[in-house]
Amino acid sequence: MPRKRVRRKLIKKKQRQYQRQKKAKERDRLEQEAENQKQSDPEYQKWQKQQYELEEFQRLALEMKQQEEEEAWLRREAIAQRQFRLDEARRRQEQSDAERLQEEQARELAEREEARRKVREENERQIAKANAEFEAMMQNMHEYLNNPQLEKPPKHLLRIMETHPGERVCELFSRTNCCRYGHSCTFNHTRPMLSRILLIRHFFSHSLLQERRVHKEYASADEELELTEHDLRSDFDEFFEDAIKELEKFGSIVNFRAVRNTLEHLRGHVFVEYGHERSALRAFINLQGRYYASRRLNVEFSNLKTWRGAVCGT
Ligand SMILES: [Zn+2]
Repeated sequence: MPRKRVRRKLIKKKQRQYQRQKKAKERDRLEQEAENQKQSDPEYQKWQKQQYELEEFQRLALEMKQQEEEEAWLRREAIAQRQFRLDEARRRQEQSDAERLQEEQARELAEREEARRKVREENERQIAKANAEFEAMMQNMHEYLNNPQLEKPPKHLLRIMETHPGERVCELFSRTNCCRYGHSCTFNHTRPMLSRILLIRHFFSHSLLQERRVHKEYASADEELELTEHDLRSDFDEFFEDAIKELEKFGSIVNFRAVRNTLEHLRGHVFVEYGHERSALRAFINLQGRYYASRRLNVEFSNLKTWRGAVCGT
């Protein structure tokens, strides 16, 4: 391209640029002028002020609303926190209550176990003690029985056994060697470990002694009563003959008394008094647990003081 044309083109470009800038400046000036005019217009200023106040009001209203919402949220949060703390406290309380209850139950169980163990041990100790005493007693009895050199029974055998040491003596038992309350009697029953008198409980049994109580109302006819009294007498004589024969095998007998009483705890008891303790002991050892008239014999030593109190009739 020729240099002239290039130059002309460049000049034209510059001219266009200048024109554009001039127009822009003019436009800016006009805009500024309009703006200035608008700003200085009181109506516009008033409108602008109102606009500003309106915006400020809206801003404040929004701020208030946000504040209220925030406060409401905080209140809800506080309530929730409080409820959580209450729930937590209650849960902890329940848990600690449950734990305490478990501990108490475990302790009670352990205490009961301990108490049971003590009772068991005490029972075992008592049984062992009783067994040892029984063994020692039997040993003593056999020594005494088999050693004629011993004139007097060993001290150990002269002891008195008591059911309730220190308690009042049971009158009935000391008079008859029997008590209707038996083992449950709270008074003291005393009995010797060895004596010349043996008591064989319910040794003599007879239908009259047993049934009299039951038929008391019907047994009023004198004739019938006489007959049965006669029967009882002859049956007793037979029993007496038979028993004496057995009992004399162990030594000479001084006294033989039967309790003629229909009361259950006295019925048919027989007291046998030997001339010597050794005879009574021999009889005791031999008769204990033996059967007579298909009943197991129950033999014990007696400390009866008088016959009168214990035995009626015979
Ligand atoms: Zn008693």
